[in-house]
Amino acid sequence: MLMRYQRPKGTADILPGDSQTWQFVEATARQLFANYRFEEIRTPMFENFEVFSRTSGDTSDIVTKEMYDFKDKGDRHLSLRPEGTAGVVRAFVENKLYGPETQKPYKVYYMGPMFRYERPQSGRQRQFHQIGVEAFGSDAPELDVEVIALGMNLLSKLGLTHLRLALNTLGDKETRDNYRQALIDFLEPHFDELSDDSKVRLHKNPLRVLDSKDKHDQEIVVDAPSILDFLTPDATAHFDRVKASLDALGIAYDVDATMVRGLDYYNHTIFEIMADSPALGEGYTTVLAGGRYNGLVEELGGPDMPGVGFGLGVERLVLLMQAEKVAIPNDHPLDVYVVGIGDDTSLETLKLVQAIRQAGLTADRDYLSRKPKAQFKTANRLNAAYTLTIGDQELANQTANLKSMATGEEVSVPLADIYQDFQNVVATQFTAK
Ligand code: ATP
Ligand code: MG
Repeated sequence: MLMRYQRPKGTADILPGDSQTWQFVEATARQLFANYRFEEIRTPMFENFEVFSRTSGDTSDIVTKEMYDFKDKGDRHLSLRPEGTAGVVRAFVENKLYGPETQKPYKVYYMGPMFRYERPQSGRQRQFHQIGVEAFGSDAPELDVEVIALGMNLLSKLGLTHLRLALNTLGDKETRDNYRQALIDFLEPHFDELSDDSKVRLHKNPLRVLDSKDKHDQEIVVDAPSILDFLTPDATAHFDRVKASLDALGIAYDVDATMVRGLDYYNHTIFEIMADSPALGEGYTTVLAGGRYNGLVEELGGPDMPGVGFGLGVERLVLLMQAEKVAIPNDHPLDVYVVGIGDDTSLETLKLVQAIRQAGLTADRDYLSRKPKAQFKTANRLNAAYTLTIGDQELANQTANLKSMATGEEVSVPLADIYQDFQNVVATQFTAK
């Protein structure tokens, strides 16, 4: 019986054509991160389960439902990473990057696949990709704003318009303790109406209820007290400074006091950048989200050292870019298509494409013994800048015909010149360029 193989549910093949968009996204991000002086960090795609369970929070969707965890042959409890921050913080602590030898803030970025056991749908997969940044070792609200500005800058460089920055603060520990109690007091009378998830979370982690995806829960929490009324003077000062810095940079934002984020580790500034996207359903979709996580380094065994960062979902970003018809530059246009006429030229055309590539240009030829006419058609379809044609006659003379596809101009060039310096041939042989 013939076996039909399919990719696992919730995964995708990124094929040539689409991979160009991905490369454009990654290259643009790398360039911009360099401008902001973030350096790349690469951590494993799986970690000890506890790295995520400790940091994401016991009541988070990620830990309760979405972990791709397993026991390996040595009975170790491992998990494919559901997000990037926990692994980076683990590496930061394990490699003692908090020490005086490293410049603070310590600024890194990552990009790569993440894994969550979710119900697949448009823009939501089981293996998906994130690009993210983290900056450790400074409490400055200006650093929060630098990270936000970097996120905004990246999305607009990638061609997204109609961006909306939603901003909130979770304050400090005292803020959250006070707010937590107020929230419990507010939610308790509604206990019977809450979804099962929210019932469990009400006492364990009431802020999580604000993040519920259940419609009825969402109706209830509309009237919940606002965390902004519970900020300590320190938390207020931090938030005011963030807002003033955003104003100074001319970055518009909406304060959304009900936004809490899906992970437990945030405090002070949290933010989401959303894009308006008819293509992805109604209204705004979050593509990039992040915030400050001042307790996280300590949580994973390091010193008390603050951090701030964001994660960006690449699948959603690419969907948005496609919806907005963002033009993707073609980084590797075809310079030369070598046309061989007759079987005897095959060895020479092989040498020619190799020589042109060695000279730093892109080159291709036919490998299917096609007739010259079909080869020229291919050259046209591939948008070659030049064709280089060689038949029996040229082979005997040790020449080839170089034709500019833009102007139609054609010249006969000694093979020796081509092998010696092809770039020079192109530069000198044509009257018009
Ligand atoms: P949501 O509320 O949509 O589930 P989240 O809070 O779980 O989002 P984060 O953990 O903050 O998302 O991840 C940051 C970004 O990663 C999201 O804004 C989204 O663009 C992307 N993302 C998250 N989960 C998935 C997934 N399963 N498939 C594709 N992209 C995802
Ligand atoms: Mg989620």
